[in-house]
Amino acid sequence: MERENAWKKYDKKALKELEALSVRYRNFLDNGKTERECADLAVELAKKNGYVSLEEAIKAGEKLKPGAKLWSAPMGKAIMLFIIGKEPMENGINIVGAHIDSPRIDVKQNPLYEDSDLVYLDTHYYGGIKKYQWVTLPLAIHGVVVKKDGTKINVVIGEDDKDPVLCISDLLIHLSQEQMQKKAAEVIGGEELNLIIGGRPLADTEEKEAAKANILGIIKEKYDFEEEDLLSAELEIVPAGRARDMGLDRSMILGYGHDDRVCAFAEMEAIFAMKGTPRRTVCCLFADKEEIGSVGATGMQAKYFENAFAELMALTGDYCDLKLRRGLANSKMLSCDVSAGYDPNFASAFERKNAAFLGRGVCFNKYTGSRGKGGSNDANAEYMAEVRKIMDDAKVNFQTAELGRVDLGGGGTIAYICALYCMNVIDSGVAVLSMHAPWEIISKADLYEAMRGYKAFLENA
Ligand code: MN
Ligand code: MN
Repeated sequence: MERENAWKKYDKKALKELEALSVRYRNFLDNGKTERECADLAVELAKKNGYVSLEEAIKAGEKLKPGAKLWSAPMGKAIMLFIIGKEPMENGINIVGAHIDSPRIDVKQNPLYEDSDLVYLDTHYYGGIKKYQWVTLPLAIHGVVVKKDGTKINVVIGEDDKDPVLCISDLLIHLSQEQMQKKAAEVIGGEELNLIIGGRPLADTEEKEAAKANILGIIKEKYDFEEEDLLSAELEIVPAGRARDMGLDRSMILGYGHDDRVCAFAEMEAIFAMKGTPRRTVCCLFADKEEIGSVGATGMQAKYFENAFAELMALTGDYCDLKLRRGLANSKMLSCDVSAGYDPNFASAFERKNAAFLGRGVCFNKYTGSRGKGGSNDANAEYMAEVRKIMDDAKVNFQTAELGRVDLGGGGTIAYICALYCMNVIDSGVAVLSMHAPWEIISKADLYEAMRGYKAFLENA
């Protein structure tokens, strides 16, 4: 049974909505290239949409009424948006949860060195990348440097047209006889991902490393920090440049970080588009650290979601531990993460009947995992039936898929973590080509259907 391509059903109004959504999405991608930037953008938009800070609501201690809208951004790297519903939270809430960290290359703690009159930053890649894809393309640095006195310096280099960009070099083909025989995983090694950031030794100096001294002078003048301050920095190297419409028909978007900002953005648009007071409380969640196992204080395994749930119960005058546990178990979630798009160039990696095709709508993965479904959430059939009905009733184009052919590889999401509360969770997202590459491809139709699907879920689950 094949699913229909969503593009075939659109009328003028839908196409207009889809295009406007795509423009907003490209803007979100361009201004949110790190988890911190995405969280900041979401907070800004939430405030514009009438959301108030959960932490301030806690301080004020006023009782929250149905319809109240709140945001919370743990450590500025994850975010939760809530609208309080008419029913008590003990009955459960409806959650859409994505992640806003993307594969990239991080700057090491002690990164700066000079070699052969070139200045480098040493790096450590983050998440699953094909390292050879990250050389010889323009790169930008985004992040923060925090000084001992707490001053936080925001850094963005390589995005403005007037900015310089940075680059990791590759060996010329003429001398690559040995390199070309290597396995793809070894063509570029992790320790070869060294970012060139300078190459002009200072004149009139006795300094031994005059090119590095020059760079440190520029950093001091422009950003007012010293080399030692890099010890307490989070600098992320990402592809430089904007997301672009792709295809002569402009049906796709080529961008950095579709995994998983496309789902995060679709969720956020869905909750902002909700009118009135929902029956059940709803939550839109962006987690950090998914690409490295959902660990750390801002990863999904941390307790911020559970804590916020408890705080909201308290603020609605209905908290006790037992009610909290019931509320979590009665909740329903879409774990919103990208899916592998079927790629005709690599057809043998997929099983066509159970693959996600670009343009055929939001994709549901009953399970992900690897080998014998190892590490997968494997949603309940009863829950899948309910979600199918919600999608069909709202006329949302959807498809179902597995992550590629059995026994070829696999992957995971945040689904299994939230399922620990005994809540119903299913993976749902947008199909991506070249996932985890510096530039990934999605279809605008899938973004649009994801947004519509997430809204239907929040309103009707
Ligand atoms: Mn993902
Ligand atoms: Mn990923």
